Amino acid sequence: MLTRLTLYDTKNRKNLEVQDQGGVVNIYCCGPTVYRAAHVGNFRTFLLADLIRKTLELNGLEVILVQNITDVGHMSEDVNQEDKILSQSAREKMDPFSLARKYELIFHEDLALLNIAKAQMYPRASECIALMQEFIQELLSKGYAYIGGDGCVYFDAKSSSNYGQLSGNRLDALKPGYRYEYTEDGAKRFHADWALWKLATNRTEMIWDSPWGSGFPGWHIECSAMSLKYLGKCINVHVGGIDLRFPHHENERAQSNAITGDDSIQLWSHGEHLLFEGRKMSKSAENVLLLDDVIERGFDPLSIRLVFLENRYRMQMNLTWDAISSAHATIKRWRALVSPYNAISGSKNLEILQTFNNDLDTPNVISILRRAEKDSGQNQAQKAELFLYADKVLGLDLGRNDPIKPLAESLKLLLAQRDTARKEKNWAESDRLRQLLEEAGLIIKDSALTQEWQWR
Ligand SMILES: [Zn+2]
Repeated sequence: MLTRLTLYDTKNRKNLEVQDQGGVVNIYCCGPTVYRAAHVGNFRTFLLADLIRKTLELNGLEVILVQNITDVGHMSEDVNQEDKILSQSAREKMDPFSLARKYELIFHEDLALLNIAKAQMYPRASECIALMQEFIQELLSKGYAYIGGDGCVYFDAKSSSNYGQLSGNRLDALKPGYRYEYTEDGAKRFHADWALWKLATNRTEMIWDSPWGSGFPGWHIECSAMSLKYLGKCINVHVGGIDLRFPHHENERAQSNAITGDDSIQLWSHGEHLLFEGRKMSKSAENVLLLDDVIERGFDPLSIRLVFLENRYRMQMNLTWDAISSAHATIKRWRALVSPYNAISGSKNLEILQTFNNDLDTPNVISILRRAEKDSGQNQAQKAELFLYADKVLGLDLGRNDPIKPLAESLKLLLAQRDTARKEKNWAESDRLRQLLEEAGLIIKDSALTQEWQWR
């Protein structure tokens, strides 16, 4: 009998019950670095936080979720090791803060399209500089940090008694030159130490005054400062992608524990990697899939959510266009089955609840629904009851009877162009654009002032 949610804990390498604090569960989830639109692989991790939250709510608990927005200090791992935001702002010829806000907005739009409930707080790194400086000061005064040969402030990895417990990387076995820590060798006491505060040197944008000189914070300190500040010294669940386990989470844990004197994170939950059509999703391999690409092909964005749910969050999975297409068909079929009964509340079903509680076994929940769908012993209303209950976590909008497809960017552009053509009384162009829009499945109604559209 699983009366509570149990999750696999990366540090203890076993399933643990999620604890609460007087009926409230604190969750911290590492958020996006907003230098580009997050791809669907990133959203697999953000969905994990949502599934944990909704399952806890199904168990009658309250959840407080905090997710940070990284808009400074996340350095690229290539040879140039530039701040991801600054190098992209140079590429797009856009002020770094405007660039960050642009992608932050897209991030929120995509979350909404995937039915990922909003966190209570989205603190931005650039707005928490004083907070981070406070934490750095405390680490210095407690002897966990030092000022390096280059004037930057570093965390002393060897001062952390149980460094490596999370990732399994022991300090004495770590080889020098790990990613971007490399260039600081010489300034640091030990190669695995990492920067808490970097001096500006040649950098002129996104820098702040500090007791150690003008500069900017390291990436890892951001999550320690924000999680402890906004959730307190006991955080019930920390969520992130498996690629962040080392060094980001290992370093975050060392910093937080140095501040609190104890393990501040009770449970570390990590989501696995996503492959797309058999390959790692990367810009260099040119196979980055955005939610917009899915919408562009006419699929309901929640098809992505269903494909993810069909795979256990802890397993590496391969996303394919075939899977997205069949998930789209499944959602349509299920909505047809369920929506006539959408007034039903979806009363508690113990089998479904326990399956979610079993380390978020969503593939099994989907199997239960598929079996029920074919079961001739149940009537439609009974089936709808079951589906609506499961949908409280699945979040597929199964009660929706009028599927409103979001408009692809390309169609928004055509509508805008047609609007301009009409204002310029360019009727030939307006007719040409109308035909394109109608071919894409829209019905266009013109009035004297505006054009209105709806899906056919
Ligand atoms: Zn983080």
